[in-house]
This record gives sequence, C-alpha cells and structure tokens, in this order.
Amino acid sequence: MPEILPDLNDETRCVSVHWNLPLQCVLPRSHRENWHEAWHPQTGNRLRYRRSGDYRTEDLHHGEWHHLEIPPPGGFCNDNSTYPHVRCTGQYGHGWNHRAVVDGCTYSWNTPIPKDLTVDQLTRDVKQLRGMLVDAHSRIAELEEQAKTARIEAIADVGDFLDENGHQDAAHIVYTVDIPAARDMKVVAVSEAGESR
Ligand SMILES: [Zn+2]
Ligand SMILES: [Zn+2]
Repeated sequence: MPEILPDLNDETRCVSVHWNLPLQCVLPRSHRENWHEAWHPQTGNRLRYRRSGDYRTEDLHHGEWHHLEIPPPGGFCNDNSTYPHVRCTGQYGHGWNHRAVVDGCTYSWNTPIPKDLTVDQLTRDVKQLRGMLVDAHSRIAELEEQAKTARIEAIADVGDFLDENGHQDAAHIVYTVDIPAARDMKVVAVSEAGESR
C-alpha cells in the first residue's frame, strides 16, 4: 500500500501517490498521461511512474530514463522460465502468461497446464489467487482514486461555469454539495442564460 496519503487540499495537483516511495505526482490534476511525475526523495532525480497496466518506475539521469525495478504492490511474480536467469517481472499473481526483459531480450512463457492435481500445483494455485487478490485490491484503490478525481473535477467544472455566468453565490453552493445537486444547478443556469439572450 502507498507510503503516503495524497494531499487532497491542493485541488490543482494530481492525487496519485507512489506505491513504494513517499511521493505524490506533481503534475496538474487534469493530466491524462499514464505516467505520473515527481522527484526521487533521495537522489532528487526527476522520476516518472505508472500504475496502470504494468507498474513501472523510471528516473531521469544523463538525459535518459532508467528503469528503477521497484517491485509492484505485492512484489514480483518471479516465475521461473526454462532459463535459470530469467524470472518474470510481472506483478505477483498476474496470471499465466509471464514476461521478462533480460539484457535487451524479451522472454515470454506460460505456466504449464497440470495433467493431474498435485499438492504442489494446489499450493501454487492458492498463491496465484492470493496474488490476484492483491492485484484486484490495488486496482480498486486506483479506480476509487480516479472516481474521486472525476467527482471533484465535475464539481469544479460546474462551479467555473456558474462563475462565468455571474452566479457567484450558486457556484459557492455547488462547490459544497454532491454531484446530482450540482448537475441540477448547471441545467438551471443553462436555461436561464439561454432565455436572457
Ligand atoms: Zn499524476
Ligand atoms: Zn509472471
């Protein structure tokens, strides 16, 4: 789980926090890139990370982005390929298709389908399912975060709209209420603006 909680008071700033380092994205809240950005708390290097798809953290030095190999939430999959030095770098419990990039070579392989159920296989399945739970939990947290952002943005949009139309008091109220009410007020403002022209 994340090291720090996002600062929700700064409404201009992206609320994404890193899952392993104590930092919050420094980009505007409205940014839509998959990469979040910040500075590394120790080295001070520019850093970027993404949380959707595969978890990845890179830092910028000597003019290039370098993969920091920070484990995803729940750790790496670490499944062994047929090559002893190649282990899956996916998120623990991600599924049956494994992947790794070693020395510039991409390896991918599947977990073999068992012919008979064995204790080993069952233990592995349980581990896999547990990992998938970890993945689902972090995905839920991510989606909750996005829903929260969308709600704040929607309210802010309505507020801006009402400001532009001179409904200062209404805007103030809209900022403090939930979305359904805010949506109603926006509809009212649209029709009023239309009639007065
Ligand atoms: Zn961000
Ligand atoms: Zn894997």
